[in-house]
Amino acid sequence: MLEFSRLGEQVFQGIAAAAGIARGKALLIERSERQVPRYDVSESDLPRELERFESALTATRRQIHETKRQVSEAMGADAAGIFDAHLLVLEDQTLVGEVTRLAESQRTNIDSIVEQVADKYVRTLSSLEDDYLRERAKDVRDVINRVLDNLLNRRHGAELAALREPCIIVAEDLAPSLTAQLRRDLVLGFATDIGSKTSHTAILARSLRLPAVVGLQTASRLMRTGQSVLLDGYNGLLILNPTDQALYEYGQVERRHFRFEERLHEVHDQPAITLDAHRITLSANLEQVAGVEAVQSSGAEGVGLFRTEFLFIKRHTTPTEQEQYEAYRQVAAALKPHPVVIRTLDLGGDKFVSHLEMPSELNPFLGWRAIRFCLQEEALFRSQLRAILRASAEGNVKMMYPMVCSVEELDAANALLDRCRIELRAEGVPFDESMEVGVMIEVPSAVMIADNLARRVKFFSLGTNDLIQYTLAVDRTNEKIAHLYSPTHPAIVRLIQLAVEAAHQHGIWVGVCGEMAGDPVLAPLLLGLGIDELSVAPPLVPRIKFLIRRLKLAEAQELADFALTSDSAGPTLERCQALARHAAPSLFDDGAQPADADPPRMEPRSSPTTPSVL
Ligand code: PEP
Ligand code: MG
Repeated sequence: MLEFSRLGEQVFQGIAAAAGIARGKALLIERSERQVPRYDVSESDLPRELERFESALTATRRQIHETKRQVSEAMGADAAGIFDAHLLVLEDQTLVGEVTRLAESQRTNIDSIVEQVADKYVRTLSSLEDDYLRERAKDVRDVINRVLDNLLNRRHGAELAALREPCIIVAEDLAPSLTAQLRRDLVLGFATDIGSKTSHTAILARSLRLPAVVGLQTASRLMRTGQSVLLDGYNGLLILNPTDQALYEYGQVERRHFRFEERLHEVHDQPAITLDAHRITLSANLEQVAGVEAVQSSGAEGVGLFRTEFLFIKRHTTPTEQEQYEAYRQVAAALKPHPVVIRTLDLGGDKFVSHLEMPSELNPFLGWRAIRFCLQEEALFRSQLRAILRASAEGNVKMMYPMVCSVEELDAANALLDRCRIELRAEGVPFDESMEVGVMIEVPSAVMIADNLARRVKFFSLGTNDLIQYTLAVDRTNEKIAHLYSPTHPAIVRLIQLAVEAAHQHGIWVGVCGEMAGDPVLAPLLLGLGIDELSVAPPLVPRIKFLIRRLKLAEAQELADFALTSDSAGPTLERCQALARHAAPSLFDDGAQPADADPPRMEPRSSPTTPSVL
């Protein structure tokens, strides 16, 4: 353990969200206010207000031209075409004229009038039948948001666009949409005041292999851009003004980890099999097409969860069916013959996209999210289902729906899927007629009707991140209650067992793709509860495999029996820690001990429920 009492050094304790160490200069991202203020202005202030509007329009025009140039360079002129539509919004004399007229008659600040006029335009355009005009509503919203950012000097994320040298991002919060756009070559890591291990920002950090610490409470308020910081993503620490001694000690820690990772690589081509020959499937989670290489090099047997929403979040427009098809096909082709489980869109909760006009909600995690959103936005859902079906022609695609709470939702989604199949057959477009369709089990109601769901699908994938938050009523992104977010709570253990039992009774396999699967302390418990597949962030694949290869299924089952009869989370967690540390001590001491060699094992037996490699 390192000492932190050195002069000038300040240590902030947060939550370790993504492993790794980064050192460098801090870049502080200011938080933007979402509310547009409204106040009266006098007649004499009117020219100044109109001038502010004019300057905001000019600045927005310049920014759009610049973004268009960058996108055009990176992705070609066609992809940049959307920005011509945005520039046209700025030239729309009816819109601009209405803002000016209302400013003169209402005498309120120009920002509130811009917001008011934009709302009216967006509402009118969104209610029209014509697809083209409805699309324009999104353009208007996007452009007006930029104008408002300029009027109100909202700079959230603007600092990132101007990034020129490597730095560590420090922010109160970082939206998943912003995190997905971080430049891996210039961002060394990030630290945020809010958030927890299972927030999507933390999940993305792991998939980008960026060291990250979240839940630092007030740290960002006490720091300035340019200050020297060290980020310890193993222990959840942010160190301001680290001394030379701290930098030296962390250099040593980093070298040890690096050597240990190299040793872990030895299990790369080995199966995830216990000492008593029980084999499970170990897959990886994927957030972006570019992450395929990391999946391949991790030694995972395919993708157990492809979070498709990041295809939507990283851009200014909704991807077309063709664009989605190309992305899904590319991933499936690259990982063949291993399976790729594509999850249909899970927007909402903490994942929003400006171009889809999702209203802000009081309880977004309980709101218009995932399958609920998709079933109401049928055209969008249909284009994704068609794209996934078309990609299934590769032969190794499976698909699953997120956040299903009832058989009605599952039946409605499957009915739409059937209609897409009929269309594609009529069009002569090939797809895999036997593509496996599964369902995520991530709300308690789904567990309680697991037998009804199991009759309708080919597999379950347990989304423990949400299952825990919905069962224990603990917001997964809120650092203040992170201590209540307890994967070993008896309610969670029993729900998992019920889901596994229902799946196996109906002869289908069941995996876990929540972060619980990638935690070496918790993976043995899942194994003991009868899980057939674990899907984890790519950097965690070697660790989990290393551990499984040192465990006995019988020990894991004993642990599960204990957890199922325990009346509280603490003793179960202690038993989990004891078993994992006993099986693979070198995983838990920062690599200080050399990783022991792969132990001998019994001959493998095959399990009928293990998901097949197609
Ligand atoms: C989960 O809820 O566990 C899950 C895997 O889905 P997500 O984290 O994307 O909500
Ligand atoms: Mg989920």
